[in-house]
Amino acid sequence: MDVSQSLEGLQAEVEEDYGEKIVALRRDIHREPELGFDTEKTAEKVLAALDGLPLDIDTGVARNGIVATLQGGEGPIVALRADMDALPIEEETKLPFASEIEGRMHACGHDGHTSMLVGAAHALSQGALSDHLNGTVKFVFQPAEEGGGGGKVMVDEGVADDVSSIFALHLWPGLPFGTVATKAGPIMAAADAFEMEIRGSGGHGAMPHLAADAVVIAAQVVTALQTIVSREVDPVEPAVLTVGEIGAGMAFNIIPEKAHLGGTVRTLNSDLRETMPRRIEAVARGVAKGMRGDANLDYTFSYPVTVNDEDAANRALGVAGGLFGEEYVLEPPNPSMAAEDFAYFLEKVPGAFIWLGVGEDVSGLHSPQFAFDEEILPRGSALLAALALEACQPVS
Ligand SMILES: [Zn+2]
Ligand SMILES: [Zn+2]
Repeated sequence: MDVSQSLEGLQAEVEEDYGEKIVALRRDIHREPELGFDTEKTAEKVLAALDGLPLDIDTGVARNGIVATLQGGEGPIVALRADMDALPIEEETKLPFASEIEGRMHACGHDGHTSMLVGAAHALSQGALSDHLNGTVKFVFQPAEEGGGGGKVMVDEGVADDVSSIFALHLWPGLPFGTVATKAGPIMAAADAFEMEIRGSGGHGAMPHLAADAVVIAAQVVTALQTIVSREVDPVEPAVLTVGEIGAGMAFNIIPEKAHLGGTVRTLNSDLRETMPRRIEAVARGVAKGMRGDANLDYTFSYPVTVNDEDAANRALGVAGGLFGEEYVLEPPNPSMAAEDFAYFLEKVPGAFIWLGVGEDVSGLHSPQFAFDEEILPRGSALLAALALEACQPVS
C-alpha cells in the first residue's frame, strides 16, 4: 500500500486520538522545567505518557535520557530526537500553566518537542500507521541541549550506532504558523567560546607612564578582534565574533594590572572554525604586546555546525509537502547562527534538522515571553511520524 495514502488524515487522527494527551504532557513539563542533564522528572513524565505502547525502553541514557524503540519490520532503523531541558530564565508569559519553579522556564520549546515526539510514538505504534511501518523507529528523548552537549553524550553512548537516518524538529518563531522549513547543508552554526586574560602592569591613575594599562589594552583588543570577521573572513562566508563579557579594575583612580574578556564565535564552515582561535590569539597578543602587555587565550570548541544531509533534507521537505501542502513548505535562504547539539547526531548519521514555524509575531526563543499555540503539537507529531514512515520505506 502507498504510504501517502496511509498519511492522509494523519494530523487529524493525531489530534483526535492523542491531542489532549500531548497538550496535557506539554503543560505538565512546562510547569516543572528542569535544566541540563537533571531531567529526571521530565523523563518520568515521558515514561508515563509512553506507558502501554509496544516499545522497548532504555532509561538512564546520557543520565536522564530515554531511548524507546518500536520494532516494525526488516527495514532500516530511523531515529527521531527531541530535547527535554529548559533554561535558567524567569518566565513572564502569565500562562495558566507557567513555570512553577523560580528562575527556570521552557523558553526554547523543548517541552513542545518532547510532547510531539510522544505523539509520534503513539501514532506509529497503535494508529492506522503501525501496519505500514517497514522498519524500526527509535524515539530519542535527550537531556542537556542548552549547553552540556547531551546529544554528544548520547552519540558517545552508542544511541546512533545502528541508525540509518535521523530527524529532529525545532519550533521556530518568525516562520509562518505550521510552516516546515529545512535545507540541505549547514542549517545551524558552530558555537565556540573563549576567555581571555589581558595582562599589563598596575599603577596610579595619575601616572599612566609608569604602568601598562590593562583597560586600554583590553579596549584595543576588543576593537582589533572585530577586524578578524570584517577584514580576514571572506565577506560571503558567515561568521560572528562577539565579546560579551569585559571586566577590569576595582577603583576609579587605580590602573588595573589585568582585564578579562569572554566571547563567542559562530561559524558555518569547519575550516574557518578551526582557524579562528589562532587568529584571535595572534591579534590579541600582537595588540597587547605592542602596548607593553600580553594576552592569554583559553578557547573552547563547543557544538559543531549542524549539517543536514542533502537527500534527507529534500525528503523531509517532500514529506511535509505531501502532509500539509506545498504552501507550508519552505527552504530557508539562510541558516541560523544559533547552535544546536543535534549536530553531533548529524556528524554520525545522515538526517535533517527541521524548523516548524509557530508564527511571525511570536516572541523569540530564549525570551521570557516565548509561548506558542499548542495547535502546532499534533502537526509536529504527524510530521515526525510521517518522516519515520517514509525513511523506513525500502528504496525503490
Ligand atoms: Zn535553546
Ligand atoms: Zn532549542
